[in-house]
Amino acid sequence: MKKLLLFLTALLTLFLLPMAAGSASAAEVTALRTAARTDGNPPFVRTVLDLSSSVKAVASLNKSRDTLKVSLKNSTPAGDAAGTYRVNRQNVDTVSLKKDGGDALLTVKLKNPVAMDDIKVFALKANGSLPQRLVVDVPSVSTVKAQSSSGVKGSSSSVPAASASDKKVLKGKVICLDPGHGGSDVGAIGTLNGQSVYEKDITLAISLPLRDMLRNAGAQVIMTRSTDKDVARAYAGDAEELQTRCDVANKADADIFLSIHIDSFSNANVDGTTAYYYPKSGRDLLLAQTLHQSMMVNMAIPDRGVRSNDLYVNVHTAMPSVLMEMGFISNAHRLNMLTSSWGPKRIAESMYQGIIDYFKQID
Ligand SMILES: [Zn+2]
Repeated sequence: MKKLLLFLTALLTLFLLPMAAGSASAAEVTALRTAARTDGNPPFVRTVLDLSSSVKAVASLNKSRDTLKVSLKNSTPAGDAAGTYRVNRQNVDTVSLKKDGGDALLTVKLKNPVAMDDIKVFALKANGSLPQRLVVDVPSVSTVKAQSSSGVKGSSSSVPAASASDKKVLKGKVICLDPGHGGSDVGAIGTLNGQSVYEKDITLAISLPLRDMLRNAGAQVIMTRSTDKDVARAYAGDAEELQTRCDVANKADADIFLSIHIDSFSNANVDGTTAYYYPKSGRDLLLAQTLHQSMMVNMAIPDRGVRSNDLYVNVHTAMPSVLMEMGFISNAHRLNMLTSSWGPKRIAESMYQGIIDYFKQID
């Protein structure tokens, strides 16, 4: 039953806005602008249409849920408002406005499907110098829920087919992934809806889909752990536990080592991603820069930079290695994202792209 309802709502949803009483002449859409917003969960792209008067708007999502159409009844684009606007912000490709019979038609093209529930269409009344407006918010990430088990979501599910170019880049490459903490070491602890969330579960939720994407593209992926366990032994000291992880990469003669962690701080406002490297080879910095850059391009997350440090796993691995801190478990907004159905997978996709970019640069 739920499936049928979802299908119907995806096809057609009505948003009724007050019509100017007795107005027979067409409303004009005088301007269109878009802005990427990261202050929502999920992050979204906002399109604002300036109107000469209020309109009735009808929004519908196509069957594959990747094209949103909003019809502004009895309206027409004016001035240079009509046209196609290239957004290219994560999941949102283009926004376009055109005349469609007696109506104006706004079309938002997406790269991946979204849920109708995550789309918002609403009116803003004229206010001071601001005209009447129609606002359309579309998630800038895919929000169609993946199948997930309990607890932290986003672990391995279906993986899209890898491109031929990715396969070429990753052919023969050995990649060691290290999901931080595990077993007796829970890592940093966050609180969500009164429940504890462990860093060890989030690092695994990111690492497993990343592993699957890389393997799917032909890379050989070595995991320090792929379940909730200690790698050395329960309650081992830090050096013993971390050296065991380095040994896994060194014995496999991996091309790169990537350790995945979630940060924490006493100030809950702090958030952002940091790439840590130790300059033991000529390529540690390059790997850190490339992975960091991919996070900046593909994720809506504050930048805490690429930093040189003598973290154990970076010092004691024999290959270029990076420890990525993917955001702060102590930040409520970030924790929401890290425990969502899409968040860990989006980070995994960013890391996948960064790894491809790195090998492209060195080969
Ligand atoms: Zn950690």
